[in-house]
Amino acid sequence: MEEGLNVRNLAATPEDRDYENKLRPVTFDEFKGQRKIIENISVFVQATRQRGEALDHVLLHGPPGLGKTTLARIVANELDVNIKSTSGPVLDKPGDLAGLLTSLQPNDVLFIDEIHRLSPVVEEYLYSAMEDYKIDIMIDKGPSARSVRLTLNPFTLVGATTRSGLLTSPLRARFGITLHLQYYDKKIIKKIILRSAEILDVNINNDAAGEIAGRSRGTPRIANALLRRVRDFAQVKGSGSIDLSITKYALKALNIDSYGLDEMDNKIIRTIIEKFSGGPVGLNTIATAVSEDPGTLEEVYEPFLIKEGFLKRTPRGREATEIAYNHIGKDYYRKTSTLF
Ligand code: ADP
Repeated sequence: MEEGLNVRNLAATPEDRDYENKLRPVTFDEFKGQRKIIENISVFVQATRQRGEALDHVLLHGPPGLGKTTLARIVANELDVNIKSTSGPVLDKPGDLAGLLTSLQPNDVLFIDEIHRLSPVVEEYLYSAMEDYKIDIMIDKGPSARSVRLTLNPFTLVGATTRSGLLTSPLRARFGITLHLQYYDKKIIKKIILRSAEILDVNINNDAAGEIAGRSRGTPRIANALLRRVRDFAQVKGSGSIDLSITKYALKALNIDSYGLDEMDNKIIRTIIEKFSGGPVGLNTIATAVSEDPGTLEEVYEPFLIKEGFLKRTPRGREATEIAYNHIGKDYYRKTSTLF
């Protein structure tokens, strides 16, 4: 089976992260796409800055690589405050959270990535901090142990999640601003690639940028990762500049699917077509067949496959479209003709 790119491994090493950080936009103006989100949040930021207050807590949700971390940093930068970053699985004790919260200066941003993975005790501890900037800490041990209420500096919690469906309702209710990041159009991804190439000081022509954009799965992280690899090919096998022919050569060598679909996308499409005759088939059934959690399927994989027209959501379940059949080299009409 032809394998696509594994999105989850794209920011795995420190070197990958350095590369990503170098390409991260730092202002709202530099952040491409997601116009509605940017319009709204920039108004809120400007208004709170004028009032000298902390911004309401912000929840960012959407699939990996769409710019949640980037946006959190931009918000802090545009508010002209510091940002402290952590993630749900790292914060396993209320004490760790208390340490972070008490170190914040007035109106600072605390960024918690993968906030759906907070442990219940830490989450509960966060409630009063978010609501009235107060936390209870235990001092002393044994019989003299007692709880003391501390008042924190006002701060903004920016939480990011790929799985908003897993957030508890009390936590969700404490975010004043919720922003949903969507997969990007190819046109915007192309702009991101051209911008990144400029930062990296590498020549790329329009056609080459368009070709990479079409295979980036609507995701800036993948676009930047592909650019990096194509640049290597251009340097070693070509003239150093990125044109269409070296791009096609590199993407073929990297085994990048013509739509940039990853292994799981292809598995989902094949499963629906090969095991369930193209559907309609229920989400839970597909999830079991591909050994993935139904929520992840629904919130991370399916939106892109639906956006690009591979899948349709029908009242009776998910159905593969003609595009999906063509993509895996199966004849769509032959399947429907067996019905007659
Ligand atoms: P997430 O936190 O949603 O997984 P990141 O914020 O880490 O995603 O973004 C991944 C990479 O994609 C970063 O290197 C960032 O520079 C780039 N990126 C994301 N969104 C945009 C955007 N709208 N414009 C330009 N680059 C972007």
